[in-house]
Amino acid sequence: EECLEEVELLEEELEEACGTPVSRLKQVVDAMAVEMHAGLASEGGSKLKMLLTFVDKLPIGSEKGIYYALDLGGTNFRVLRVQLGGRRSGIVRQDVERKPIPEHLMTSSSEDLFDFIATSLKEFFDQENDKDSDISPAPRRELGFTFSFPVKQTSVSSGILMKWTKGFSIQDMVGNDVCEFLHQAMSRQGLDMHIAALVNDTVGTLALGHYNDEDTVAAVIIGTGTNACYFERADAIIKSQGFPTSSGGMVVNMEWGNFWSSHLPRTSYDIELDAESPNPNDQGFEKMISGMYLGEIVRRVILRMSKESDVFGPISSNLCKAFILRTPLMSTMHEDESPELEVVARILDEVLGISDVPLKVRKLVVNICDVVTRRAARLAAAGIVGILKKIGRDGSGAVASSRAKGPSSSNRLRRTVVAVEGGLYSNYRMFREYLNDAVAEILGEELAPYVILKDRLSISWPLFLKLNIL
Ligand code: ADP
Repeated sequence: EECLEEVELLEEELEEACGTPVSRLKQVVDAMAVEMHAGLASEGGSKLKMLLTFVDKLPIGSEKGIYYALDLGGTNFRVLRVQLGGRRSGIVRQDVERKPIPEHLMTSSSEDLFDFIATSLKEFFDQENDKDSDISPAPRRELGFTFSFPVKQTSVSSGILMKWTKGFSIQDMVGNDVCEFLHQAMSRQGLDMHIAALVNDTVGTLALGHYNDEDTVAAVIIGTGTNACYFERADAIIKSQGFPTSSGGMVVNMEWGNFWSSHLPRTSYDIELDAESPNPNDQGFEKMISGMYLGEIVRRVILRMSKESDVFGPISSNLCKAFILRTPLMSTMHEDESPELEVVARILDEVLGISDVPLKVRKLVVNICDVVTRRAARLAAAGIVGILKKIGRDGSGAVASSRAKGPSSSNRLRRTVVAVEGGLYSNYRMFREYLNDAVAEILGEELAPYVILKDRLSISWPLFLKLNIL
């Protein structure tokens, strides 16, 4: 009994420290908008890098032709071909090939990595062109390249690799133009393609969202990591003056995983996770939100409870292993609907080596998952509303526009779409529901119906790399 009390105290403490009442979320919204301003004002002005993408137009659905795309950003890479039929037909056809990157290539030389990529692309290109007599002889093809590592763009189709992440480490590439490596490898394969665009995965998602729905203003990815981008007015991008854009705006890659604010509800578990991570003081927002970390936060809570009580039995050695509780397992426990929480019992046993816990303790575990996910989803929601605030789509222009009584008052209630993608968002129902609810809660019932979060954008996004941005 006494032990259970001890644990209940820790549970309450966790709930309180992770609390996200709407008042607090609004502070996060404001902080996000302020940091966005600061990051746009000057290089290094904020933890938000607010990277220029040089993408100044987004596809609108009337594009026609065949486009190729290459997607490199994690453990898999993809080659795609899409045929767009124009306004009425949309996507006529698409082919995708997915390949795991052989692990040794992640830390080998740029030549090895890009030869592998170019060879795969060549095979894909030849296959498709042999099959379809109607499209051969093929004219020179346009290729879009999604490269999801931190890149400082120098134009829409060139950019310098700033650093590697996600287990990649090929030193001769850092500081060099990514497209140059691809171009040279394609030449070695005798592939004559034009690299039309180099973009980050969030930009690809925004482009696809906009292709499907022209009211799409921003894109958010919540998977292993998290990031967002949006379309910004050129005159608001103070640090880019001197790059006029034809459309009067540009997509800005926020790199929002690195956002930080004192208003974020932080716990001792977060502080320890960060301190023991390979990148302390970095990616603070991401560490509270994304799929890489949620299961790990839950593990840390259970470990602490296990140390301070005996409700989980003797401390299991598995429970001490960092990252052993992956987020998909956490969501499986969270969504266990069996009356006796048998799935929770099984995962505790098989993964964490904790057996024979009573129902009450299984319920406690479900609650820990709930608290951690709810906080994550609501913070991501606040981030999204922060973007809307920055671009005047959060309804806060209300006073000004009602005074003005001009066209801006209709602008206030304008349909606004945000594309949301990523494995955490699309596979974790509770996360998705909490996020959607929180966006509506922050916006209020008058405005909420005008803001639409769209997911499962129906096809893979990287196809849209090139479209209309030349
Ligand atoms: P990535 O972000 O690695 O490019 P994804 O967008 O597919 O790829 O996201 C994968 C991540 O999504 C996983 O690392 C995991 O954290 C999370 N995820 C996948 N499936 C689930 C699930 N069923 N429940 C919770 N999280 C999941």
